[in-house]
Amino acid sequence: MTITGRTAQRDPGPPLPEVKMHLHSPAEPGIAVVVANEICTGPKASGIIRHLALDVSGTRLAGAFRAGQSFGVIPPGADEHGRPHKLRLYSIASPTAGEDGRGQVLSTTVKRLVGEHWETHRLFTGVSSNFLCDLAVGDRVTVTGPSGKRFLLPSRPEDHDYLFMATGTGIAPFRGMVKELLAAKVRSRIVLVMGSPYRSDLPYHAEFEALEGLHPEFTYLTALSREPQEDGGPRMYVQDRLGRDAATLAPLLASERSLVYICGVAGMELGIFQQLARLLPAPQVAQYLRIDPAVEADIASWTRRMVQREVQPTRRVFLEVY
Ligand SMILES: Cc1cc2nc3c(=O)[nH]c(=O)nc-3n(C[C@H](O)[C@H](O)[C@H](O)COP(=O)(O)OP(=O)(O)OC[C@H]3O[C@@H](n4cnc5c(N)ncnc54)[C@H](O)[C@@H]3O)c2cc1C
Repeated sequence: MTITGRTAQRDPGPPLPEVKMHLHSPAEPGIAVVVANEICTGPKASGIIRHLALDVSGTRLAGAFRAGQSFGVIPPGADEHGRPHKLRLYSIASPTAGEDGRGQVLSTTVKRLVGEHWETHRLFTGVSSNFLCDLAVGDRVTVTGPSGKRFLLPSRPEDHDYLFMATGTGIAPFRGMVKELLAAKVRSRIVLVMGSPYRSDLPYHAEFEALEGLHPEFTYLTALSREPQEDGGPRMYVQDRLGRDAATLAPLLASERSLVYICGVAGMELGIFQQLARLLPAPQVAQYLRIDPAVEADIASWTRRMVQREVQPTRRVFLEVY
């Protein structure tokens, strides 16, 4: 099936900066040292998410990562087949200047994976996330990377306005990007929409509230899916904010300067794309999505698989879901 789209020509998207990648491979990893490891959600959160800061000054990552990129962690030990654990990727939660302003300390946002094993019904704990969450200051971590060359701020950040939409640890790259944009004093509109089940699960909530208080160009919105909103409004998912806060978000989405970034749990993009298609007039939808005419009329029937083919994001949409 072909995508005809409604834009006359394909938007190449904003130019992106050149990035360094794979300076450390799994065969030749670097060793980072933990400088902070703290819970970054509220008390009694339903999941445990920690902010982990790593000194990478002794590695090739030092001064060589950008906000939006990821790095790899190789947990110690071996899997059930006796093979060394494979690397897991973690989004960098720092701006390009790092936590220290010199690119020597990077951070990430780690969610402990804990559950009941689907088959054995025994406690299941993710290898790498629990390794990272249990680390103490001074502990060493085997790292690779950086990786990723697309989920980045554009080369000329001041030419754009930004809508960041996150769930869970998808907040990580946006913490770095928001801080970077605000520090650069670009005159851009920046809106972050963060979705979580409960208010206590919002990572970095106080930090984003403080940034919003200091920077009028930055708006921080939350969407709670399992309890009423702070203003008493009904439960909602991130995409519901697009309709509910139309006064803020409709002009942003209408602007040809705007870029949309989505990061978090796999599948979240579907609801956002459906909402964009429902709410925006056709020429504005075309800024963000190329929709096959065959599926244009029946938005409710869209599935996640279609996002690969019939409903493709344009280059003005940046997507990282896992
Ligand atoms: C680009 C990218 C960026 C990422 N950024 C981050 C980030 O910033 N923060 C973050 O926390 N994570 C991030 N991740 C996810 C991260 O890489 C790991 O996948 C995650 O931490 C889990 O790894 P683990 O070793 O703890 O779990 P593993 O030991 O690898 O276990 C996960 C596996 O177990 C299976 N599984 C899950 N639950 C159960 C269960 N109850 N019973 C049986 N099997 C189960 C899953 O299907 C999965 O295959 C990112 C991933 C990608 C691709």
